[in-house]
Parts: sequence; C-alpha cells; structure tokens
Amino acid sequence: MNSYHSTRSRAVSCTAKEAIRTGIAPDGGLFVSDALGSEKLDVTGLAEQSYADIANSVLQLLLPDYTADEIAACVHEAYDGTFASAEVTPLVPLVGHEADEGGQPFVLELFHGPTSAFKDVALQMLPRLMARTGSASDTPAESIMIVTATSGDTGKAALAGFADAAGTGITVFYPEGKVSRVQELQMTTQTGGNVSVCGVRGNFDDAQSTVKRIFADRELAERLAERGVVLSSANSINVGRLVPQVVYYFAAYAQLLRAGAIEAGDEVEFCVPTGNFGDVLAGYYAKLLGLPVEKLIVASDKNNVLYDFLTTGVYDRKRPFFTTISPSMDILISSNLERMLYYLSDGDCELVASLMEQLAHEGRYEVPAELLARIQEVFACGWADEDEVRAAIGSCWRDHRYVIDPHTACGYHVLGQVPAVPAARARVLLSTASPYKFPRAVAESLGLDVPADDFACMEVLAKATGTTPPVQLATLRQAAVLHDDVVDVDGMASYVEHACHAKLGQR
Ligand SMILES: *Cc1c(COP(=O)(O)O)cnc(C)c1O
Repeated sequence: MNSYHSTRSRAVSCTAKEAIRTGIAPDGGLFVSDALGSEKLDVTGLAEQSYADIANSVLQLLLPDYTADEIAACVHEAYDGTFASAEVTPLVPLVGHEADEGGQPFVLELFHGPTSAFKDVALQMLPRLMARTGSASDTPAESIMIVTATSGDTGKAALAGFADAAGTGITVFYPEGKVSRVQELQMTTQTGGNVSVCGVRGNFDDAQSTVKRIFADRELAERLAERGVVLSSANSINVGRLVPQVVYYFAAYAQLLRAGAIEAGDEVEFCVPTGNFGDVLAGYYAKLLGLPVEKLIVASDKNNVLYDFLTTGVYDRKRPFFTTISPSMDILISSNLERMLYYLSDGDCELVASLMEQLAHEGRYEVPAELLARIQEVFACGWADEDEVRAAIGSCWRDHRYVIDPHTACGYHVLGQVPAVPAARARVLLSTASPYKFPRAVAESLGLDVPADDFACMEVLAKATGTTPPVQLATLRQAAVLHDDVVDVDGMASYVEHACHAKLGQR
C-alpha cells in the first residue's frame, strides 16, 4: 500500500493517506504514485454513470489504501447537496447565432460549489479525505494545522471546506491588494473557531515559497509536535486536492456521450486556464487513466511563464510579475509542473531533483530536447494579455450570449488561437470561476456603466445579461469583516505558530 513517494527520490515511500496527511514530501518534492496509469478506467459505460459513480471509481484507483466505504462516504459528503447543480460540473454547449465550422466548443462549468470557483470540487473533498487519515486508534494522535497560500480562490474554498472541522485548524495567507474585492471579502468574513486569515505584503509566489519553507522548518515542526500539532497543505501540491479534479474530466466525457456529441473512444481536447498547473495536470492524470484526450491546451494570462516553457523548454521565473484581472493565474512558480516532469521523464527523480534545485538557486532550468518533445505531444499552449482577456469576455457574450469570468476568458482567447487537432471530436473549455467573483472587470469588458462599488457592479451585470449572482457572493455585502491581520513575508512563520497556539488550544 506504500504507493506514494517524492518526485525527487524513491528513498521513502508512504500510503496515500500519509501523503494526504503530510501534504508535501520531506525532501520538498511532491507525492506521486508509479501505479498511475497501470490500470485504466473503462470509458464505454461512462454515459450511464453519475458524477458520484465516476468519483468513486477514480478515487479508489488513485487512493488504494482507503476502503470503498470510506471513499463512498467522502464522495457523498463532498458532493451531495453542496453544489448548485445535480451534475456537480455541468457541461454546456456554446451556441452561436450561426453554426461555426467544425462544431462549437463546450464549457465545463466548475464553479457551482459553495465559493463559486473550481477549487471547491477538490476542497469539498480534501477535508473528508484528511479526516480519515488518522491511525487505527479512535482519537487521532495529533491536530492538523492547514497552512495555505492563495492567489485568490484556494483560500476561500479551503476555509469553506475546513471551517470547524474536528481536530483541524486552518491558516490562509493571501497577497494583500492583489486579489479582487469580492475574493478578499469572501476570506475576511469567514466564520469558524479554527480559522485564521492574513494578508501578506508580497505576491502569491512570495507567500507560496514561504509556506513551503515553513513546511520544511524542522525546528518549528519539533516545537509544534510537542504540542501535538502537525502542519499540512491544502494547496494543489497535496495529492488529496489533485485526485478529485481528475473526476470532472471523465464527467465531461460522460456528458459529451449523453449529448450525442461524441461516441465512446472518440478523442477530445480540453483547454484549461492555468496558474499552478494543478487543474491541467489532473487532465493529464485522466489521460493516463485511459480517457481519450488528444491534447491538453494550457492557457495562461500575461504571466506567461508556462507558455514560454512549453514552447522553448526553458523555465525562467526571473521576469516581471504582473498583477492582472485574472489574479488566480498570476503565478510564476507553477508547483505542479514538477509532477508532469516526473511522469513525462518516466519517473527520473534525479533529473527532477536537479531541475528543481536549479529553479530554487538560479531561478531557471532547461529540459532536454527529447523531454520537451514528449511534453509537446500532450500539451499545447497559448496566452492572453489583459486587453485580449477583456475582448474575449466581450466577444463570448456577443457571439454566444454567455458570460465568462477573466480566467475562463484566457482559455476562450487561447481556443481561438490554437487550431483544433483534426482527430479531436470535441473541444471543452474549463470554466474555473463564476463571473460574479470579478464583477467589475466583467462589467467593464461588456462596455457597461461601472459603479464604484463591486456589489453595484453585480447588479449592473445581472440586469444587462439576465443572469443571477450566486447568493453566497451577493450576501457578502452585509457580512461582517472578522479578519484584518497583515504581515510581511518574514512574519509568516511566527504567525502560523501563534495560530497553532490560539486555534488548536492546549492539549
Ligand atoms: C486556481 C485558479 C486557476 C488556476 O488553477 P491551477 O490549478 O492553479 O492551474 C484558474 N482559474 C481560477 C478561477 C482559479 O481559482
């Protein structure tokens, strides 16, 4: 059952439960399983399967030390009644005034969860998985403090998943002034006795790198262990977050089958707005599990470090950082790329360790030409600057009467740039957030009058498009702000230690 080990070494292995509980490998690598892809999921019967059916199969395959009953309970708790759609992740066709050539794309709406971003799909599941990682004895030996850096959406989705979870605390760091007003309010109004929310003076990469260092701090870990506390991660470096995302690629395929858009076995393409490479990596996992995916199209915003990497083989994070209207993709260090490099190099831990070492010390690495060629067989790419994002929001509305958020708009723009592979029977754009999380940018892009207040923007947007804001966003207007802490990057570690004392109590 010790199926997981680090991307950087096979020296130590562990179970899926241990990988989920600890979040990141002790050597700083990410947990991977060599069993991935050795067993395939059958796609012929997918059309008859519900989201929960598919989730059960995928999770059992990838998390083999959980019992079927444990998985079924997690799936039930995570998705039964928590999403505003019976499909959990509904697929909608983008219908045009006139039929375009080559068929119209579909949009996979991933934002119907409690916080209106795709991260809910994973973060409704992760706490349930984590709650079942305890040892065989009835009372878990330690409390867990979840420490998470967010570029805007992970924070709230993690807070919603972990608030008041037994034996667990959660601390969220967000880059102050670099998330949308609605995103910030979603976090700072979070209730729950076990939550801490703190702004950081810096950008997401600064916060995420510091969180990784906090996890690697042995002395801090020892001090916390004396108090019965371990740290863990809710970022997509945790396999417990990645695995639930594999499910919706299969669910999209099932819906394409049901719509008669494809036949079982047909190849499809997915276009994925990307920051930390977690969402699109889950698509690659789906491909390894047997889903007929012809290409995964990686869509970036102006922080196009992944576009440059996928076209040249050089990853270089020494470049200007742009704060854009798609804040959740404003990332220069894409953590999950490490797992992709692992699998596409046939599990070459030494290579991965040396590339990550170069990234940490020189801010740059280059992959061998042969590896780049293999990567390009699977991943296509494109990017959109802010003017293009705004234009994409406008043209998607004009051509399809469909409103998209700025992250989804990066993907929409890139779909227009990257020609469809002839072998692919359908193209699916992953929609990662509700447009109402970014009402100002969306209203501006549609050429509407934009009032000073974001909630007034929501009303303008609703009126002009005949859509309705999700109730959990509209009601933020009345919610009380409960968190106003702000620290420098240097203050994050002691903030975490203090939160462990304050929120997890004496033992
Ligand atoms: C997190 C996020 C992304 C990027 O997802 P990754 O898994 O980090 O690639 C894209 N869009 C939205 C709205 C997000 O919240």
